[in-house]
Amino acid sequence: MLLSRPVKPRLSPRLCAGLLLLFSGALAAQEDPAEADPAAAVVLTGSGTANLTLSGTATPLAFGTTATGLLVELEPIVNRLGGRLEVGPLRQSYSLAIGEALLVIVPGSPALTSGTEIQALSQAPAIVDGRLLVPLELLERSYGAQLGVTFAWDEARAVLSVTRPPQRELPLEVGLVHLQGVTTVVLQFPEAPRYRVVRSAGVYEVVLVGDRVVPPAPGPKVEDPWVRSIEVTPERIRLELAPDCAAESYTLKTPFRLVFDVFKETPAATSAAPALPRDSARRVIRTVVIDPGHGGKETGALGPAGSAEKELTLLIAKTLAARLEQALAVRTVLTRSDDVDLGLDERSALANQNKADLFLSVHLNSSVGRGALGAETYFLSLQASDQRAADAAAVENYVGAAVAPAGSDDFELQLLLWDLAQSQHLAASQRLATMIQEELNRDLDLRDRGVKQAPFRVLMGAAMPAVLVELGFISTKDEEQRLRTPEYRAQLVETLVRAVGRFKVEYETGATVPAGAP
Ligand SMILES: [Zn+2]
Repeated sequence: MLLSRPVKPRLSPRLCAGLLLLFSGALAAQEDPAEADPAAAVVLTGSGTANLTLSGTATPLAFGTTATGLLVELEPIVNRLGGRLEVGPLRQSYSLAIGEALLVIVPGSPALTSGTEIQALSQAPAIVDGRLLVPLELLERSYGAQLGVTFAWDEARAVLSVTRPPQRELPLEVGLVHLQGVTTVVLQFPEAPRYRVVRSAGVYEVVLVGDRVVPPAPGPKVEDPWVRSIEVTPERIRLELAPDCAAESYTLKTPFRLVFDVFKETPAATSAAPALPRDSARRVIRTVVIDPGHGGKETGALGPAGSAEKELTLLIAKTLAARLEQALAVRTVLTRSDDVDLGLDERSALANQNKADLFLSVHLNSSVGRGALGAETYFLSLQASDQRAADAAAVENYVGAAVAPAGSDDFELQLLLWDLAQSQHLAASQRLATMIQEELNRDLDLRDRGVKQAPFRVLMGAAMPAVLVELGFISTKDEEQRLRTPEYRAQLVETLVRAVGRFKVEYETGATVPAGAP
């Protein structure tokens, strides 16, 4: 089963209105070596146990101070404000689900994955004494954004107060359209409401949190194959779906719209490889996210016979996903399964959201010089390993005006930031890149262009081993012709499957698998 959107969590957050969190514990300067990963190490200028006090009940809460600012333990706050905090293997990443929102937190990295965006925090979360400590900024970007609460830290009194802004009355407009097997329900508000989405069998409810809806008059009329009814009250909007239907939701800005795509679930969809439990501390490759390069307006490179990179990468990625599931029993997720626009950050954000253990971005090369041949595999670096690698990164990083141009201050800053997410995995990424290149060299009549490093934007935010592979030159007539045949693409896919299989065994067991092993 291929998913083009992140798997969304189910939960029902508990909510406490007008609460006050009180810290009262003395600062105790102490050494606190981070235990899980050296990359998560943090230098504390002070640390200790505070009291998180709410409605007269005190809960212990770890906190620490660094040169940059305050870090507070996340878990007691989750317990009070609602949501679900889950830890990944090796405590390398955490996911925090609040209503519809899923955030991925990587200790040691200031890159916060929120939905399909990667945001920059001014201070990285850290593991101290086995607890996840986060900056207040993260609380604002998560609970603040989802529940409408605001956090204020009074340093003199050591009090963190959580307050709720006044209630608003927000007029609602409802739109509904059925197109190509999908019903799209649009709930439009003049400004973003505070809400959460609660799912039960066949019903999606948008529950307002601290705000109220002014229902449209007359109420929405629904005559649709997938949506039975839409009921609106000041407190909630209730969507009842037809049998065997499901929905995915997302938001659009200006004006704020909450959108539900409702579709009929096929038997294949319900038998999709489930998200496996990830409580084991062993390193395991369970989920592989495959990223077909480009899409939509971004055609990627074009061949002399008119093939577009975006079409061929999608064909290769789909076959690869199916073959990886068959051969290695892994779950696969495509960043896109259609010809759609998708930002570079969104691609790695999707990998983080899906708790991917591997991220593989599939591309085809182009060259202005005639007759360029061969495949090359990249892992991330701020410095390109040679001019050709620098050029390749510049080409792949270019997606219209959406990305700050290379060389600008903004771009350099983003590079430094995103690199931190990937930095914990560079050794594994290099190993995977090497194996892919070895298998490509062994099996295919492709010129070995080697393993290279370059600042590929799409790899930067990925919090797992991640590589970008250029499977030949679409700009060269012969390679384009070969890439157009399903047989040749299948050969490329088998090569990649073997490389990922070798990597999986080595990563999970430490045993080395020679090139070309079945
Ligand atoms: Zn490309």
